Amino acid sequence: MTMEKFELQQLRDLPIEEVASRLGLEVTHHKALCPFHDDHHASLSFHTRRNTFRCFVCDAKGGTIDLVMQYLHKDFKEACQWLSNGTIEPQRPHSTPLSNQRGAGGESSFDATKYAHYFAHPYLSQAARRFLFDERRLDPRVVSWCRLTSWRDRNGIDWLQIPYYDQEGHLIGIQNRNLSNQNENGAPRFRFPKGSECGIYNLPILNRLKPGEALYITEGASDCWAMLSSGHKAIAIPSATLLSKKDQDQLFSLSFSLTYHMYPDQDEPGERLFLHLQKILPNLQHHQLPQGCKDYSDFYLQTKSLTFNPPTLTH
Ligand SMILES: [Zn+2]
Repeated sequence: MTMEKFELQQLRDLPIEEVASRLGLEVTHHKALCPFHDDHHASLSFHTRRNTFRCFVCDAKGGTIDLVMQYLHKDFKEACQWLSNGTIEPQRPHSTPLSNQRGAGGESSFDATKYAHYFAHPYLSQAARRFLFDERRLDPRVVSWCRLTSWRDRNGIDWLQIPYYDQEGHLIGIQNRNLSNQNENGAPRFRFPKGSECGIYNLPILNRLKPGEALYITEGASDCWAMLSSGHKAIAIPSATLLSKKDQDQLFSLSFSLTYHMYPDQDEPGERLFLHLQKILPNLQHHQLPQGCKDYSDFYLQTKSLTFNPPTLTH
């Protein structure tokens, strides 16, 4: 692979906090739990102007490429490839201490047979039901369509398990979402089993679309559930800068048989994402969220509370 100088600069200029989030780190107020030592106090700081990170405890530091190299145990070339292709590379759960991780170059693919049985008979714990139905007020049919399930790890942390399927319905990745209050347990917000491909979410919905029908693009699975619960057909993308070429091509090839719609998040990154996607999907239509709604989930909850109170599903 030859890497032109300007391409390298583009990778160095990718927002450091977005790269960190894509790796699974939870960034709050320019800080995150440091994945390079056993951290409980968000010691990793991001300097957005210089586009760098630094841990004041273990002295890990660098830019976007360094972060990927150190976190995923990749060499320079592989890290650059990961940054330009984002979603197609396997991710590591960052809760694993570095000493327990295998060395560089240990490519691994996602073993669906190991996980498929979790989703055959979904189980929703009380924590999961509270989150999905009380807090997010999602339609139970959506939860069942998405085959959401839940589990509790040996530290007593409740996780929501979110399967990613390709259009043919093959399990290609899993996202685990921490359902507990993170300040209580210090665990990460998201974890991905080895080799998970979590690119476009809810691809099986494409088989349900009639020609010319509207498909909503959301950012992240939870906005997708809210959109589906409002009766729209929807997919979710992780972030446009990290959309793989394969995912971009798939979205583009569909743009002839359906119409794309989007309610961008009500902030600068939201609008930037819309403009970026519109370059790939010229027929993408912009919808404006009302004042005071930061994202579609927020809007969904506000309209929901105006219309009716769903029956409580917890015992
Ligand atoms: Zn550290």
